[in-house]
Amino acid sequence: MVADCIFCRIVAGDAPAHRVHEDERTLTFMDLFPVGEGHLLVVPKKHGENLFEVEVEDLLAVMEVSKRMAHALRRALAPDGIGVHQLNGAAAGQTVFHYHMHLIPRNQGDPIALHGRTEGDPARLAELAVLISRALEPC
Ligand code: AMP
Ligand code: ZN
Repeated sequence: MVADCIFCRIVAGDAPAHRVHEDERTLTFMDLFPVGEGHLLVVPKKHGENLFEVEVEDLLAVMEVSKRMAHALRRALAPDGIGVHQLNGAAAGQTVFHYHMHLIPRNQGDPIALHGRTEGDPARLAELAVLISRALEPC
């Protein structure tokens, strides 16, 4: 736990988030500044700044959950495609320095953006979190 890390604080329950799923190693929640409807972040609970620092077991856990989340997004929102990406280092565009995977549903013609500019409507984010978590298949 890193006290001034927003994602550590969310994992610890000390900062708010629209949570979608949690397991032993990972937490999934709605991105607060979504690029589009259903933009998710999957994070390891254990702090690591980026790909270089995170334990392989946590990377594998994040990837496994990302696949489950991709299926849930497809069932819940039926996007044309889903961007799965993650950034390492400020020069690569990383803005929160706790490893995370983005899952961004996209429709034909959507601009390819990595970051949203405006905060998502809290009521809609809450609604989407429920919709997506209900679309998860049991392990
Ligand atoms: P990156 O630029 O890859 O480090 O992405 C960080 C992401 O975290 C951005 O898409 C932000 O919108 C998102 N973000 C920042 N703070 C929060 C927060 N408190 N809750 C949810 N998402 C956040
Ligand atoms: Zn952290």
